[in-house]
Amino acid sequence: MLANFRVGHGQDAHRLVAGRPLVIGGVTIPSERGADAHSDGDVLLHALSDALLSTYALGDIGKLFPPSDPAHAGLDSRRILAEVLTRLVRTAGRVEFLNVAAVVTLDSPKLGERREAVAASVAQALGVGAERVGITFKTSEGLAPDHVQASVSLLVRCEPLHADPVTYKV
Ligand SMILES: [Zn+2]
Repeated sequence: MLANFRVGHGQDAHRLVAGRPLVIGGVTIPSERGADAHSDGDVLLHALSDALLSTYALGDIGKLFPPSDPAHAGLDSRRILAEVLTRLVRTAGRVEFLNVAAVVTLDSPKLGERREAVAASVAQALGVGAERVGITFKTSEGLAPDHVQASVSLLVRCEPLHADPVTYKV
């Protein structure tokens, strides 16, 4: 049976405020400010989760985890990702993550020395080797000093669990 290749893309941004943790890809970064969010505000896992959902047009995490639901307050974003993966596999069958390409934009603190820890954390959450997770750290050059942002593109290969051939005639 032919495998399907699907591209996914997701983005996220949160305002930085004092007294909140700064969590990037499941890694807590020492910082005076963190993401103002209903959940733990992990921009990287939010963008990754939306990218995964986009591969099969499954909506977005705002729909799955409405901020208005008090049950989601302080939610660990790894739980969001786990739910997204469950839904993706239910739809797509066996899924292989060929690569994840992520860009995180943050002026301060600098994240360069956290690259391996963040890539390893994301890779572990997806069950792949860290060599499949590329992390680019950028600053906004002072254009968005009060925000943390992430953008994720990825490529997945899926093998449907059930034969479901579709023939098109033109
Ligand atoms: Zn978010």
